[in-house]
Parts: sequence; C-alpha cells; structure tokens
Amino acid sequence: MGWIREYPRVQVRHLHNARPKFGEWELTISVTPIAVRRPARGVKQATVVCRACGAELGVRVHSAMSTRVTKLLLLLLGIVATPATVALSLIMVETDNGGAIAGAWVSLFLALGGFIGCYFVDGVRLPKGGALHRLAYQRRQGQDHG
Ligand SMILES: [Zn+2]
Repeated sequence: MGWIREYPRVQVRHLHNARPKFGEWELTISVTPIAVRRPARGVKQATVVCRACGAELGVRVHSAMSTRVTKLLLLLLGIVATPATVALSLIMVETDNGGAIAGAWVSLFLALGGFIGCYFVDGVRLPKGGALHRLAYQRRQGQDHG
C-alpha cells in the first residue's frame, strides 16, 4: 500500500483574494508545501512558514500507519453504506415508508462521506490557520502565485 507518501500530499493554501467570475469564485492563492516527514508513529507537531505572508502555522502530521487506518475505515464505511443505501432505496420505492426515506438519505451521505473522505484524507491537520489559511488538497484550484 504505497498510497501514503512519506511527505504530505496536501499543501497549505493562503487565500489572497476571492472574487466571483462567471458564476464561480476565482481564487487567488499561494500554496506552501508541507515539508514535514511523517513520524514513524503517532502525531508530529511542526511549523510551516507560509510563503505568502510569513505566518508560522502549526500543523499536525499523522504517521502513515494511522493515516492508512483512517483511510481504510472511511473506505469501509463507504463500502458498508452503499448496499444499505440501495436496500433502503428499494424499500422506499416499494413501500413509501418515511423511515426508509430518511434512512436512505443518511446511508447515502455516509457512503459518499466515506468514499470522498477516503480519497482526501492525508493525515494532516491545520488547527489554527485562521480565515486565510486552509489545506489545499489539489493544485488546480486557482492561480498559483507561489
Ligand atoms: Zn499566509
């Protein structure tokens, strides 16, 4: 399972500006890679200096093992919740049962949450980024002014 890299895939994103453009938000951002090697176990506290404003941001980087476990649990949640969604949807269609309708929605959200969470989880937390700093899971979110 080589899908957890030694260094985090996510980056710290500094938001300079956001303005609406053609019905979407055009974001002007800078990204700073998180050059923190994962600890062998547990959580490592480290500081990342934002390239854009020089702010020192405390990040928590989880070990590859615990990140893997989190990903697997989320994947499992998605896998378990998917047939539940299908089953409850069938009951909903056949019986028009209010409980089945609510249950189908809940399990649908759990399934989606599990799969999406599994894809994005990278074992990194940014507890005090403020409004300007977020974790960026992909680069193609706007212009990169480095
Ligand atoms: Zn910044």
